[in-house]
Amino acid sequence: MLRLSEQNGFKHIGYLLRYAGLKWKNNRAPLHQILAGDFDLTPYLIALGLPEHHSRIKHIYLTFKRAIDTPYLITKHPKVCPDCIEEFGYCKYEWNFLPMLTCVKHKKMLIDTHPATGKKLCWYRQHLNKFDSDSGIFKPASSTAPPIAITLSQYIEALLSNRKINTAVPVILHDLELRESLSLIHFIAHYQARLLGDSFSPLAMHNYELAQNYQNVWKILTDWPDSFYALLSQYIDQPLSSRGSGGLNKHYRDLYERLHRQQQNQGIFRIKTEFDRYIEAYWPGVLDLNRLTRINLTSTTRNIISKNEVARILGCRLERIDKLVQQEKLTPVLFKGKAHYQRDQAESLAAIMQENWTMSEACKALQLTRYQLKQLLDAGLFKALQKPDSLNRDWIIDKAHSQKVIKSLRIKAREQPPPGEALTMTALYRLGYSIVQLVLAMQAGKLGYCTTNDENHPHSFKQFVAFWFTDHS
Ligand SMILES: [Zn+2]
Repeated sequence: MLRLSEQNGFKHIGYLLRYAGLKWKNNRAPLHQILAGDFDLTPYLIALGLPEHHSRIKHIYLTFKRAIDTPYLITKHPKVCPDCIEEFGYCKYEWNFLPMLTCVKHKKMLIDTHPATGKKLCWYRQHLNKFDSDSGIFKPASSTAPPIAITLSQYIEALLSNRKINTAVPVILHDLELRESLSLIHFIAHYQARLLGDSFSPLAMHNYELAQNYQNVWKILTDWPDSFYALLSQYIDQPLSSRGSGGLNKHYRDLYERLHRQQQNQGIFRIKTEFDRYIEAYWPGVLDLNRLTRINLTSTTRNIISKNEVARILGCRLERIDKLVQQEKLTPVLFKGKAHYQRDQAESLAAIMQENWTMSEACKALQLTRYQLKQLLDAGLFKALQKPDSLNRDWIIDKAHSQKVIKSLRIKAREQPPPGEALTMTALYRLGYSIVQLVLAMQAGKLGYCTTNDENHPHSFKQFVAFWFTDHS
């Protein structure tokens, strides 16, 4: 249409349209919308007596699915190949796709920016082959484009025209549709830009800048998946916030969320597969599924935590954590020399400590001396979940088991002692009974006894009083 306007001597495409009796506001045709398929040009073309134009771009654009595919497809400003315009006298619609960096025929970068003024090329220019009336006709780029830029353009052109792809394309892109492939490319571009604290906004970039971004993505895709792992691990040095591992978790959660949302896109799904593998290999537990609900992905609870946080959860000193690791009670997540820990492990360990007795807690509840309790533990009548050794300072006594032992002793006790003299516990000790022998004899029924049913000290040994020898002894 621009060509028609120019060759018929109109100064602006709008004048042509007005001449044809078609009033367009401000003489501006919504060219971007026309290309994107949001605007139906057909009635205007019929009014101008032009053959109905079948918009391939519109067709391609409509295959893109909202929220699943990339929203970026068509440039905001036109791109042109000066050689082609000179040779054939018209522009090709393919040039206006973002990833078309070069002219496939001439192997040169497409032009969208005035080399001197930096002004972007306009849809509404007067001449097809000039930026504006002040500057001369477009000068083609003097050298050929970088090889990757050419390959990418050939690849995209083949996808656009449903032709077989002749160029060497990274394996990860094999058999993908344009929308899937471009989504994958933009996904990587976004997270690459993210690494530099930037965002990938292709519509605001000029062709050379865009080419730089796409080339970097292409390199990653060529060395897939190692290069992707390297990209992900770079986030470790670039946490999303200053809160150490918290920032890292945020990165991964953000990545996970986007991958999850777009996983119906085959291209994104391929990234997701590799992302899942990476997390499992290097950061197991970082995305604890119990904590990671689809609704509340921004929750502040993280599963991967620092050593200090573990110490706080367990109420212990930092050195203790190294010992717990040696005992394989905590599995550190080692990456680039930094150890992180899993919150769920620390919490379940803390729960074990909470739900059981330390040595002094046990002595207090059982009303035994440390020496007596130690004897019962050694004899296996009471159970220790943890014994002091070179790696532990503290005992952890199985509280539930201990309580069960006392309960069964209480059940065996009699209401009243039989007539005759009963012995005190101290008297039995004097007779040479150890605490172990005493308990064994009580359990075996060789000693009869009464209980005071002391509800203030329900697990105390002191509730057992008045012993006597039974017939079994
Ligand atoms: Zn060309």
